[in-house]
Amino acid sequence: KKVFLTGGSGFIASHILDQLLSKGYGTNFCPYNKSNLASYHVIVTVRSNIKGDGIISALPQEFKGDVSYEVVEDIAQEGAFDESIKANPNIDYVIHTASPYHHNIQDPVKDFIDPAVKGTTGILYSIQKYAPTSVKRVIVLSSTATIVNPPNHPEVYNEEVYGATTWEQAISGTMTYRASKIYAERAAFEFIVKEKPSFDLVTINPCLVFGPPPRHLTSLDALNTSNHRTRDLVLGNNRDKITPTGPLFLFVDVRDVATAHINALENPEASGQRFMLVGGYFSNKRIADCIRELYPELRDRLPPVDSPDDFPEKIFRFDVSKSKRVLGTEYRDLRTCVKDTVDGMLGKA
Ligand code: NDP
Repeated sequence: KKVFLTGGSGFIASHILDQLLSKGYGTNFCPYNKSNLASYHVIVTVRSNIKGDGIISALPQEFKGDVSYEVVEDIAQEGAFDESIKANPNIDYVIHTASPYHHNIQDPVKDFIDPAVKGTTGILYSIQKYAPTSVKRVIVLSSTATIVNPPNHPEVYNEEVYGATTWEQAISGTMTYRASKIYAERAAFEFIVKEKPSFDLVTINPCLVFGPPPRHLTSLDALNTSNHRTRDLVLGNNRDKITPTGPLFLFVDVRDVATAHINALENPEASGQRFMLVGGYFSNKRIADCIRELYPELRDRLPPVDSPDDFPEKIFRFDVSKSKRVLGTEYRDLRTCVKDTVDGMLGKA
């Protein structure tokens, strides 16, 4: 079966690719085993030939034939995916992960909202035009950014909750990323209502994702945004003072996010659903403490042992029973996640 995976150079996409190639086998992080046959042929989209070649060359030899790439330079452009969908007949599933996630906002609309929204509707229209019958399901990698409403948290978050934003907030910079995800998810579900395609839609909505860096990553300078806090601890960049954790205190392991995508691909019960993924609570202090315990040789690089923990005394709850029930998601805990993340980083440092 063929899967079309956008944003192939991305952190989460790299783990989805690994697991698509090794579906059903072994552990999730080091899935390769010479006796395993790939279950899917995967077409990834990337912004340049250099990135595509980098992904292919980082694959173990036995999987190289199962992956190909298409260059889609800017998903915000009209018809950006047309040629790549046309060039690959009989695609069964599409997983759309490409979307900006960084802190370098120059122009909120051009840098974030357009690629998020037009990228999402763009791929849906391209499928509708060029692969309307072969594609059975589209999975959009959304976010808990479309669910949460800081600082006005309900007692419990689940998939029934929708985050809200005004246009003023969307273009303010601070809420731009969140708005880009809210608008993109909304646009995807509106497409389904309006166009009534023969494929269906699933969204996967993870909170802050940590985990081992992609195999194809050659330098920690190019590490994805959500892994920066752990990288900065590992490199000693926060030796003097721990940095504030941020508004949400929720993390999930990237391998569990990838598995949720794989398990959502062919599961009839997932149709039309959104799935919130949360592995647990964290704070920067808790990450530092895990590293201190697991890697004594890194202790000199960490913030002082008595640094304050900004984890709040009272915090909202989250209910991820739907992901467990329908997708079979099993969540790794923070210690395991930090251990494997740091292992992966030390291998790249
Ligand atoms: P990455 O930055 O690692 O990946 C983003 C991907 O999108 C990259 O492949 C990037 O290409 C591509 N991309 C961005 N803008 C464009 C564009 N205009 N045209 C073409 N490609 C583009 O991020 P993650 O893997 O962490 O995140 C992937 C998705 O998951 C995003 O949609 C994000 O919103 C969502 N998400 C992430 C979370 C996290 O904590 N990491 C949490 C919740 C949701 P290139 O690298 O070449 O720029």
